Amino acid sequence: MLIDTHCHLFMDPLYSNVEGVLTRALQNGVRGMVVPSVEVGSWEKVRELADNKMVFPALGLHPWYADEKLDIGMLEKLLIETDSVAIGEIGLDFKIENPIKTVQITVFRTQLDLAAELDLPVILHCRGAFDEMLSILSEKEYDGRIKGVIHAFTRGPQLAKRFLELGFYLAFGGGVTRPRAKRARKSAANVPLNRILLETDAPSIGMDGIEPERVEPADVAKVAKSLALLRGVSFEEVAVNTTSNARKLFGIAQ
Ligand SMILES: [Zn+2]
Repeated sequence: MLIDTHCHLFMDPLYSNVEGVLTRALQNGVRGMVVPSVEVGSWEKVRELADNKMVFPALGLHPWYADEKLDIGMLEKLLIETDSVAIGEIGLDFKIENPIKTVQITVFRTQLDLAAELDLPVILHCRGAFDEMLSILSEKEYDGRIKGVIHAFTRGPQLAKRFLELGFYLAFGGGVTRPRAKRARKSAANVPLNRILLETDAPSIGMDGIEPERVEPADVAKVAKSLALLRGVSFEEVAVNTTSNARKLFGIAQ
């Protein structure tokens, strides 16, 4: 069995076909999925989707929406009410100009503080801000107090090593299914299997031969297959290990 640790079921076309999406996931051995929110407006949708027992919610404010008013008390209340498995997705994206860096950093830190307080893992989004992010996570108040995953990891083994040293998991997705994604594939082949998670990021990232909007949680099986090929191990070994990692990080019992 597999767990898709990152998919946005509240986005279309997934949202308008949830039943079919979940059925196809089950048919492909996917027994659970972590659904991280993005903007404040998605929190309620994630809460609603979490009525399904295959869905494990994560609530947080994505850096693209760091300009929205973050009511940290409300976030805390909803995280508890929904039995969320993580705060996410949160992070830094310096490839965009707005929201500006300082706003993103403030919102990121506020949510890291809450994660430490509630002892919840974080789901991290990072683009063009790896040095900044690693330096924040290495600060005394966070190092050893924050656990989590860096999602959609496509960078090389050197950067992977820095996240591993901080105790983080790395989630690989559609990127590693593409033969030309040499850098990501090198990391996927070398990171210890007990620190790897699988994800689709559906419907935001494509796979080899599949457009992003056609990717579903069921396709996480294709990521597992690519990983098995890259590492020269069986599909089963990848499935067993990554599922056990996801259970451990997110405290998923079933
Ligand atoms: Zn995402």
